[in-house]
Amino acid sequence: MESTVTIPLLKDHHSHPLFYSAFNHAISLNAVKTKQAAEQILSQSFEHQNGGLTVAHGWRSNRYHWTQAEMELMPPLAVFNVSLHSLLINRGGMDYLRLKYGDTVNQIADPVWYENNLRVVLNWFANLYASRENLTQFFAQLKEIGIHYLEEMLLVDENEIKIFEDCNLLNRTRFWSAPDIFQSLSPQAKTQVHGLKLFTDGAIGSESAALHRPFLTGKKTNRGMLIYTDPELTKTIEHCLETEKSLAIHAIGDRAIEQTLSSLMHLKPRLVRAPEIRIEHAQLITEEQASVAIDLGIKLCMQPNFSSDSSNYADRLDHAYCLGNNPFRMLIDKIGYTPGENLLLGSDGMPHGIESAAQHSFFPEIPSQQISISEFIAAYCLDDFSQGSIRLKIDESIKTVGYDILPPQQQQSDSPGTIENNS
Ligand SMILES: [Zn+2]
Repeated sequence: MESTVTIPLLKDHHSHPLFYSAFNHAISLNAVKTKQAAEQILSQSFEHQNGGLTVAHGWRSNRYHWTQAEMELMPPLAVFNVSLHSLLINRGGMDYLRLKYGDTVNQIADPVWYENNLRVVLNWFANLYASRENLTQFFAQLKEIGIHYLEEMLLVDENEIKIFEDCNLLNRTRFWSAPDIFQSLSPQAKTQVHGLKLFTDGAIGSESAALHRPFLTGKKTNRGMLIYTDPELTKTIEHCLETEKSLAIHAIGDRAIEQTLSSLMHLKPRLVRAPEIRIEHAQLITEEQASVAIDLGIKLCMQPNFSSDSSNYADRLDHAYCLGNNPFRMLIDKIGYTPGENLLLGSDGMPHGIESAAQHSFFPEIPSQQISISEFIAAYCLDDFSQGSIRLKIDESIKTVGYDILPPQQQQSDSPGTIENNS
């Protein structure tokens, strides 16, 4: 049976628009399944680049891999893992970056340095290609895939605010920034920043999410990595609270979530200084952690498209983690998290757009990951149809979602989420 439902355009609560707009002309390996297919796409780019740097993103390490020796046989190349938390780069690629960013680039191949300096590296790439043209074009493309608004979780520098301003896009985003970038901003720019953003661990794709039980790969001893020691994290959060800005804390693994919550616990009386505190991703949050988080008034900002990590990364996550990934039903039904209030949804750009968001929300692999249409609208959509709408065609029998984007003038008079059954 196919049904149609019209919903407002998306409000993506977690992305990196300047970074992704800089990648407008980069190679996307998101849909690529084999090494052979990836190499074919790359070789086309090498011809165009004429010795310049080829940048690719969306590489999925569960599907294929290049050794460093293989990387060295190719022209200057940088390949981001789909999670962005790991990077393959060859000597030619490093030489290219070194021209602009100096000898710090030499450390890029060290995975621990990379994870600790992820933001710095992403900013390098954003600054290589960011422009007003690219940003304008990127936001036009977002509209075609159903996104009107998306939050910038990693402000690159003060100039980024200027670029958004010049492109007339300030009303389609809000900025979060790392504490050191925030300190570097002018008083005026500081008022334009909504909140501060911290990382406490890496990601599952790069096997750097901080877990209690180890990854299944290799010697089965790797439990991922924490960016901070316990006292460091508490101190860092304490400094953030002094700015009286909101706070977003990246924590994917249960060990990182545990550490984050215990730091927040320590600072409990002072948490009211932040207008809002969010945990970003929270993929492996346990029931116990969720009840601590909700009692502390912590919002969760999660990504339905990461529900498929349960099968994509079954090679590295133990079965209980796969089953417990993105436990939306537990959070909403048992703990009392309310979509749109303290449970927000976004994409992290992996990938952007309604298609992946709807597919993973309505037809996840694991029943506990399911989100209803009304919950989806509350947590992932604009409040009204003023910017346009998305007509979803949901086919329950083959579990697929199709869509059309409708401009504002064709908006429905129905309230958001009215379902019409077609057949
Ligand atoms: Zn992110």
